[in-house]
Amino acid sequence: MLNKLFGLFSHDIGIDLGTANTLVYVKGKGILIREPSVVTIHKKTREVLAVGTEAKRMLGKTPANILAVRPLRDGVISDFYVAQKMLEHFIKLVHELPSSNAGIFPFSLPKIPRPRIVLGVPSGVTSVERKAVVDAARNAGAREAYLLEEPMAAAIGAGLPIEEPLGTMIVDMGGGTTEIAVISLGGLVVNKSLRIAGDEMDMEIVNFAKAKYNLLLGERTAEEIKFSLGNAIEFDKENEFKAILRGRDLKTGLPRSIEIAPAEIREALKMPILTIVTCVKDAIEETPAELVPDILKNGITLAGGTSLLRGFADLMSRELKVPVRVAPDPLTCVVRGCAKVLDDSALLARVKIS
Ligand code: ADP
Ligand code: MG
Repeated sequence: MLNKLFGLFSHDIGIDLGTANTLVYVKGKGILIREPSVVTIHKKTREVLAVGTEAKRMLGKTPANILAVRPLRDGVISDFYVAQKMLEHFIKLVHELPSSNAGIFPFSLPKIPRPRIVLGVPSGVTSVERKAVVDAARNAGAREAYLLEEPMAAAIGAGLPIEEPLGTMIVDMGGGTTEIAVISLGGLVVNKSLRIAGDEMDMEIVNFAKAKYNLLLGERTAEEIKFSLGNAIEFDKENEFKAILRGRDLKTGLPRSIEIAPAEIREALKMPILTIVTCVKDAIEETPAELVPDILKNGITLAGGTSLLRGFADLMSRELKVPVRVAPDPLTCVVRGCAKVLDDSALLARVKIS
């Protein structure tokens, strides 16, 4: 009874707890939050200073007493306390009680949000970590908390036929992890989690600038170059594209900028890209023979921010000789999958992992 009453005043929410970005969907309202999964805390007191975009702006720029933490950086929860604080922050942020209720009901409404929450988490998280996420959601006020594995959520969000007796392949490439899965009859038949994705690409750009130009780049600068010039395969008129790399000269210690071309970035990104493609190939090889023809016919669907890297889908298709397409709005697939499951309790019962 009490639960039902709470339900009246709480909005069900879906959360994509990503290594790079956290997205929050609120039933009836849409995606209300898209913020980096970053928290800045005071080093000694562990007091939270900023969460999300504001905290990301401080990455690499914090003084000695402030720490910028990405609690899920590698797809495992490296810092339970910070992860929990981040979840609490986002849940509270979306959960403003509708003010119109105050006039309808003569009594004061509970100030604590009690939503049902469906969370997408990297499939690599251990059972201890799963429990930690569920506890964090409960501590943040959830009356019910369910977890979905990220590739399952992504596939549902991408509208793929996950409940059919068909092999459906999804590759979700985010910041810290790449999740590769073959789904059939509502379950993961093959599932690989690789700690190589967008962050590793940024690091390779940093390494490249250091090795070739003696130039020290910040991670954020590297990511911006990846957005503007990153690519996996040659493209039309690429000679017309250039970008300026700004960093610190490692010999003189002074600021310096150089001009670079798309081919150089392609070379720099080669290793992480090939590693991902090889892992997808391995996953196909591990797929039961009955499901392989479905993948060959229907192709592979890419989700996650890293699927937006120019030419990545084309390269994968060329290397694996399988059609590859990027899901519509790949950055929101996981949270939209969580949203769909919130509306379909039978589906939720079939796909939740805890
Ligand atoms: P996660 O689910 O791990 O939080 P996301 O799916 O939000 O990750 O994707 C974030 C990653 O995608 C980051 O590494 C970011 O640099 C990368 N990314 C976003 N947009 C692009 C783009 N246009 N080109 C290449 N990489 C991109
Ligand atoms: Mg993700």
